[in-house]
Amino acid sequence: MIDRREFTRILSAAAVGVALPAPVLARWPRQDTYFRWQEVSPGVRVAIGGGGNVLLVADGGEALVSDAKNFGMGHTLRREAEAFGTPVTVAVNTHHHGDHSGGNIAFAGDLPLISNPAAQRRIRQQAAGVAGQTNDRLATMIDQMSRGGTDPRVIDDVRNEASAVEAAYPEAMAPNDTFEVEREVRVGRRTVLLRHVGAGHTDNDVFLHVPDANVIHTGDLLFVGRHGFMDQNGGVDSQGWQRSVRAMIDLCDTETIVVSGHGEVVDRHGLERQYEYFNQLRSAVEAAVAEGRTKEEVQALTPPSLADISGNPSRNLGVVYDEVAGG
Ligand SMILES: [Zn+2]
Repeated sequence: MIDRREFTRILSAAAVGVALPAPVLARWPRQDTYFRWQEVSPGVRVAIGGGGNVLLVADGGEALVSDAKNFGMGHTLRREAEAFGTPVTVAVNTHHHGDHSGGNIAFAGDLPLISNPAAQRRIRQQAAGVAGQTNDRLATMIDQMSRGGTDPRVIDDVRNEASAVEAAYPEAMAPNDTFEVEREVRVGRRTVLLRHVGAGHTDNDVFLHVPDANVIHTGDLLFVGRHGFMDQNGGVDSQGWQRSVRAMIDLCDTETIVVSGHGEVVDRHGLERQYEYFNQLRSAVEAAVAEGRTKEEVQALTPPSLADISGNPSRNLGVVYDEVAGG
């Protein structure tokens, strides 16, 4: 056990950012937050876990949160974001997928929640489609969390989310403010730029750029070290995805902090790898198609150029086959 004195020492060491010796870290009593928060620049944080990576940008009494985690987790996200000392004043969805918009109900009821119009439309459809299941899903979550010894504050958050769902589902799941191509949002003295280049991971991807902090939030236009999800029903376009990645690379210098949708925080090299990924995928497919291979055969390929990417390439090979053969 850690006595009170040692605990105080750990806390004060952590507060000033002193590196702790490993044995002390291993005895840390418990994580104090549900999400793993990482400050990547003063006033700019990332929340990892429980859905796509979230960006929090605060300044001058205002804060922007980009993405809302999985269904049921919005209230926890908002509570933990606001515990850093600034109320959330504006929210963004980078795209419609449920691991980025599932917690929207904690934001859209009383704040501007901004997305591309196609994301708004798809989130409305999505929410309406599962309207009959929301109570059960939340009740199951509360039950599992109670048995699993989850922090009681998080369980309370899910109860609050259930009440909000009861009162305002599905309307308050959807973004309430949209833009087509570009939007500038003020957060205190900071500017956050939102941009939709075109279809990429979906037909409604938005990335964020915080110039004064030199930070980019890619949404799911960047998957680090794994095969990105190519959503055929959501309007994926591999060449459009590359155009979006190129637009982000053009904003980068060697110091730029790149917050991916899934995976670690990286720099411009992460974006360059994502760009190259599609070239490699496409050249593997094109070579096979030129040899007269079937879609099934293409999906069974294991391109050596993609050997260091984790996961199975079969699905993405099939999507690119459809693009190449269909176009
Ligand atoms: Zn996604």
